[in-house]
Amino acid sequence: MFDSKSARSEDFINHDEIIKVLEYGRDHKNDSEMVDNILKKAETLSGLDRYEVSVLLHACENEDNCELREKIFKMARKIKEAIYGRRIVMFAPLYVSNYCINGCKYCGYHCGSGIRRKKLTQEEVAEECRAIEAMGHKRIAMEAGEDPKNCDIDYIVECMKTAYATKNGNGEIRRINVNIAATTVENYKKLKAAGIGTYVLFQETYHKPTYENLHPFGPKSDYDYHTTAHDRAMQGGIDDVGIGVLYGLYEYKYEVIGTMLHVKHLEDTFGIGPHTISIPRIRMAEGVDLELFPNIVSDEQFKTIIAVLRLAVPYTGMIISTREEKNFRDEIISLGISQTSGGSCTGVGGYSKRLEDGGSGCDDQSTAQFKVSDERTEAEVSKALLKNGYIPSFCTACYRAGRTGDRFMQLAKTGNISNCCLPNAMLTLAEYALDYGDDEFKKLTFDVIKSERESISEEKVKVKFDEYLDLIKSGQRDFRF
Ligand code: SF4
Ligand code: SF4
Repeated sequence: MFDSKSARSEDFINHDEIIKVLEYGRDHKNDSEMVDNILKKAETLSGLDRYEVSVLLHACENEDNCELREKIFKMARKIKEAIYGRRIVMFAPLYVSNYCINGCKYCGYHCGSGIRRKKLTQEEVAEECRAIEAMGHKRIAMEAGEDPKNCDIDYIVECMKTAYATKNGNGEIRRINVNIAATTVENYKKLKAAGIGTYVLFQETYHKPTYENLHPFGPKSDYDYHTTAHDRAMQGGIDDVGIGVLYGLYEYKYEVIGTMLHVKHLEDTFGIGPHTISIPRIRMAEGVDLELFPNIVSDEQFKTIIAVLRLAVPYTGMIISTREEKNFRDEIISLGISQTSGGSCTGVGGYSKRLEDGGSGCDDQSTAQFKVSDERTEAEVSKALLKNGYIPSFCTACYRAGRTGDRFMQLAKTGNISNCCLPNAMLTLAEYALDYGDDEFKKLTFDVIKSERESISEEKVKVKFDEYLDLIKSGQRDFRF
C-alpha cells in the first residue's frame, strides 16, 4: 500500500519541471498545427497532458488572439455538453467555525484580521441545516478555519453527525463535503467514518516562495505538509478528494501546470485523479488588501483557465462559488463548470439569521470569510439556470450508493451518465420544484423534464424513471439510479 509518510511535495510539485513545461509552451505557442492537434485530441475526451496545456495557455495568452480563445471555448462547451449535458450540481457552504490560528494574508479569517470569532453549538448547526434545507439544498460543503483548540476533528465529526441527523419537512442533507485544514491519516479516517463525501483542500498556490510569503505562521505555513494532505486523506480511506488554486496569488499559468502535476500525482499514485477542481479567484475580504496581489486574473484569463482545464481533465467536476458576479457566473458555467453554490452565506450562523429576517442577503458580514458577489437566493440561481437551458441537480446518488473514487470515474468514463446522472438530476429537481418552487419554477421544471426524458438512452431506465417520477408527484421522496 502507498505509504503517505514517504509523500514529499517536491516529488510531484517540482518547480524546475513546471518551468520546463512553461518554456515548452512558450516555444510552441505559434505552432498552429500543434495547437490544432491538441484541440483534436481534446475532442476525443481523453484529456491533455501538461505540455499540451502549456501550449494552449501560451497560445491564447495574447489578448488579441480572440480567434483561438473562441475555438478553445467552443471545444470546452462541447466537452462539457458531452459529459455533463445540461446538468449543474447545486450545493451550499456551511461555515461552522471561523476560529483560525493561521496567518494567510489573503483570507478574512486570518489570525489578527479583527473579525468577530464564532463557533456554532450543535443546536446552532442544526438550525443552520434546517435553514439550508428550507432552501432545498441536499449537499453542503462544511467549512472551518484551523484551530485545534476551538475546532478539533471531534467537533467537525459532531457537526457532520448533527447535519446528517437534522431534517426539515422533506428536507435533509444527503452529502457533506468537508473543507478543513490538512491533517493526519487518523483524523481523515474519522471523517471517513462520519460519512464524508469529498475532502476538499485548496493548495492556494503551488509556487513555494509565494506560498511561504503568504502563510507566514501557523500550521498551514508548512508547504510540504499542506501539499501532501490529499495523499493522507486517500490513505485514510477518503477516495474522493478535491483540489483548487486561489487564482490571483501567483502567475496563473504556473498554477495551472502545478494543478496538472498534482492531478498526475494522484492518478499515478492512487489510480484516480481529483473528484473536483475548484476555481476560486481572490476577492475582497475584511482585513485583506487587494493591492498586495499583483497577479489578479482578468475575466478573459479566468475563462481561459476554466476552458483549458475542462479540456485537460474532462471527467473531473469543476466548481465555482458565489465569489463571482451573477452574469459572469452564468457565462463561465457553459465553459466547463459542473457545480455551483447558490444562496450562499459565508458568515458563521448566517443562514438561520437570514431565514428569521426573511432577507436574501448574507446578514452577518462581521463573521464572513469573503464577500459574496452573487447575492441571489438559491431559488433565483436555480430558476436562472433553468431559464438558461440548464438542469439544476440536487443529486447525491453516487456517494449514497457507494459509487466513489474509481467506481465513480468508471461511471463517468463509460458514458453512463445519461442513464444515471440525467435521470437523477431530473428526479431531484422535481423534488425541489414540488417542495420549494413557485408556479413558474414548477412549470419550467416539468417542461424541461418532458423534453430531456427523451435523452435517456436505455428504455428500461425510462420506464423506471416514469415510475419514480409518479411516486415523487404523489409525495414520496428519495428515488435514485
Ligand atoms: Fe484560516 Fe483557511 Fe483562512 Fe488560512 S485560508 S486564514 S487557514 S480559514
Ligand atoms: Fe453526481 Fe453520481 Fe448524481 Fe451523477 S449520479 S450527478 S455522478 S452523484
